[in-house]
Amino acid sequence: MKKTLIGPFSQLLTLANIPLKGAIEDEALLVIENAGILVSDGKISGIGKFDDLKSEDVQIEHVHGKSVCIPGLIDAHTHICFAGSRANDYALRNSGKSYLEIAKAGGGIWDTVTKTRRATQAELVDGIIERAQNHLKSGTTTIEIKSGYGLSVDEELKMLYAIKEASSKIETDLISTCLAAHMKPKDWKGSASTYLDEISSKLFPILKSEKLTNRIDAFIEESAFSSLEIAPYFRKARAMGFSITVHADQFSTGGSETAVHYNAVSADHLEASTQKEIELLAKSNTIAVALPGASLGLGCDFTPARKILDAGGALAIASDHNPGSAPMGDLLSQAAILGTFEKLSNAEVLAGITFRAAAALELSDRGTLEKGKVADFISFPTDDYQEITYHQGQLKPNGVWKNGVKQ
Ligand SMILES: [Zn+2]
Repeated sequence: MKKTLIGPFSQLLTLANIPLKGAIEDEALLVIENAGILVSDGKISGIGKFDDLKSEDVQIEHVHGKSVCIPGLIDAHTHICFAGSRANDYALRNSGKSYLEIAKAGGGIWDTVTKTRRATQAELVDGIIERAQNHLKSGTTTIEIKSGYGLSVDEELKMLYAIKEASSKIETDLISTCLAAHMKPKDWKGSASTYLDEISSKLFPILKSEKLTNRIDAFIEESAFSSLEIAPYFRKARAMGFSITVHADQFSTGGSETAVHYNAVSADHLEASTQKEIELLAKSNTIAVALPGASLGLGCDFTPARKILDAGGALAIASDHNPGSAPMGDLLSQAAILGTFEKLSNAEVLAGITFRAAAALELSDRGTLEKGKVADFISFPTDDYQEITYHQGQLKPNGVWKNGVKQ
């Protein structure tokens, strides 16, 4: 099979050879001018100057005009399998009601649970595909999607089957995560611990046998589960070989310490993290995931991204796209805005939505543009990479390649 040479790109950022952890200056970015990418069988087989990569046995796919190429974006935290809208919650919040007040009054997550339970699997599949296709146009080629609006064995299964089915129908890679521990369902008569027992004993084995996910998430918070309640759940998950990820320190601390204790791949949110939690995370293998979309949706503080990086932590940035706290779902806009509030370099913003996000999903085959990696890359109509964050998400990709094929 002939190789395809795609280019020339005015600039190409490989994002390669940058450490997983810590602050990054823009000088660390490898920028290749008049660059090309050789693709064969969906993988990158060469990167360099466009003219150097030309040869008789390659076919050329020309890129016209100004173009800056970077790896396809990776959104490491979303909840885009859901039914219904929470526009009313949004209005209530903006009229002064708090997230916890709305949750306690029967709104919040439970409202989406009710609507998602009423939806058929086919309806959920359609919703996922529509959202993922929109994200693909904006440059996101890999998306993590959580369950967590089913909150019973059967309803969580419906969500995870929907994610699996959607994945088979679209080009975007969908990485599923079981978030049955999103909150204790309001119709569960027993304690939080008995609910978690039910899920871990009945649902976990099916996740394995049906290959529905290898990732277990839990929301550790006043409105959800305590670190104490979640301990046996995580121990069981670990013993069965699942990777762990945690909704941590969103409104109060405790979650990130539990995440580090269980060697979670990521601790996500962290808006309430103090220096103690930041240092704990920085010393660990757990990747900190900032979710600026939730801060924008709720009108609250951003994750202390600058402090996390300066302490030596690994920082990914994800959209948290969900119908309640983060309805916008625009990863690039949110990452760029986080950059302005937290004073992040271009390199730190781009790393957070490419290879550091890949690490949060334990994907070693993507996130940088290097020989052997998946040929997922996007281009923007400019000749200066600094324009990407400068336009705060309004400069949209003019080319998206998934597995080397232009979408
Ligand atoms: Zn979330």
